[in-house]
Amino acid sequence: MKAGESGMKIYIRLEGHDFKYEIEDVIRLFYGNEETSIEYQDPGEDNPGFVLYSGLESSLENDGQFVLKTMLEEGGSVKFTENETFSIHSADDEYEVKKIKKREVKRQLYKALSQYTARKMPWGVLTGIRPAKIVHELMEKGFNREQIYSRLTDYYYVSGKKAELLYNIAQKEKHILDGTGPDKVSIYIGIPFCPTRCLYCSFTSNSVKKYAPFIKNYIEALKKEIFGVGEILNAKGFKIQSIYMGGGTPTAIDAPYLEELLSFIEESFDMGQMKEYTLEAGRPDSINREKLEIIKKSKVNRISINPQSMNNEVLRNIGRLHTAEDIVEAFKLARDIGFDNINMDIIAGLPGEKLEGFKYTLEKIGELAPESITVHTMAIKRASRLNEEKDSYSLISENEVAKIVDNAYDFITKIGLEPYYLYRQKNMLGNLENIGYSKPGYECMYNIQIMEEKQTIIALGAGAVTKVVFPENNRIERIFNVKNVEEYVDRIEEMIDRKRSFIINC
Ligand code: SF4
Repeated sequence: MKAGESGMKIYIRLEGHDFKYEIEDVIRLFYGNEETSIEYQDPGEDNPGFVLYSGLESSLENDGQFVLKTMLEEGGSVKFTENETFSIHSADDEYEVKKIKKREVKRQLYKALSQYTARKMPWGVLTGIRPAKIVHELMEKGFNREQIYSRLTDYYYVSGKKAELLYNIAQKEKHILDGTGPDKVSIYIGIPFCPTRCLYCSFTSNSVKKYAPFIKNYIEALKKEIFGVGEILNAKGFKIQSIYMGGGTPTAIDAPYLEELLSFIEESFDMGQMKEYTLEAGRPDSINREKLEIIKKSKVNRISINPQSMNNEVLRNIGRLHTAEDIVEAFKLARDIGFDNINMDIIAGLPGEKLEGFKYTLEKIGELAPESITVHTMAIKRASRLNEEKDSYSLISENEVAKIVDNAYDFITKIGLEPYYLYRQKNMLGNLENIGYSKPGYECMYNIQIMEEKQTIIALGAGAVTKVVFPENNRIERIFNVKNVEEYVDRIEEMIDRKRSFIINC
């Protein structure tokens, strides 16, 4: 089987390191959507196949220098080979040394596969979900714009266009992050119920119909956790900067539960210094006047209505029970009730939506003039229905999705919104990115905080993950809540205790 054909096997031989995860990450960049199997064994003489060698050894001549070799062979003939030497500063600690070695191994492998396949990736060798973090680190070290640009393009092989975008976004984020004091935290509250499950979804979302008998208990448990977290905040003197209620779809629960929950949050938390409170009213089929009025009466000051597409056939394909007309109606209702900060999420690369269809989606969204638009690139998530039923859907090509994402950038910036945060996910079509755009002054603080990991985010609800940030030594500790709704309800005291004992004692 030739490299690049579906069903291919790659035989890998590693010497002097065991960075399998990093090697596979780079291989996935080039062969992610194909049925590729990776074997860490010798292919044997009769089956030379596609063989990759990566070796790392200390230089015999110079202390702190390493020699890295990568070789690709196909059918017994060498397609790429390179030896490179790099140095590691003696002051670097063990963790830093390992990080540099991994990075160099990845870079050389990227070079090999890029040359062999004659393809370049928009984000080069960067495979993490938070590329702006690299720019923040470089800015902290005093690098200027030109130096950062050349580090991104020449060292990480990021395209010029993406490097420019990333730099501009990091600058905007810095402006917002700089206003954050060490006593500020953000809060996430998860409502893991949805009207139906979307084709591409891998989140913890449970059918609101199926779970109807548990919702009362879930809200009760969540209230206990909110109360417990309120006590923790007081004990530590933490002030809330932003709250984000997501899920799932918070508006999927009945209006009385929503009202009870929103009032309880306001009774339990000191919101005196809070700047932003977002509630995901994600699905139009979960919104009505009664719920929107309840939300408007609360301290929520930003909502999200997420169409994903404005084409009815595409909405049907992805398992939504609403139409594009319902989205327009829900948006106008929200405006009518007085919401003046509305985000809309759309997805580039949904099955059945090509460039022309996406342009139509953009035009319709543009007519509504939301304060922010988030453009996700379709990702095939392992736990999604789409992944299981992949063969039943035809997905668009990498080139096409790249054109859609470029077109979205041009359209959205032309109507006055600017990119302000960016993240990437595994298995995204075309190895692209998700970008949040907003009118100036409407950047979502929570989105930036969750991506840049500079602030502690206390997360409540089933499956929620709290991240405690220790900026003094760049450390993050995670506290997990159980995912299963019934288990969360049964073990709520334990969830609160986990947070209490960790946060209060640190
Ligand atoms: S609305 Fe969001 S959380 Fe709910 S099923 Fe769809 S993608 Fe998943």
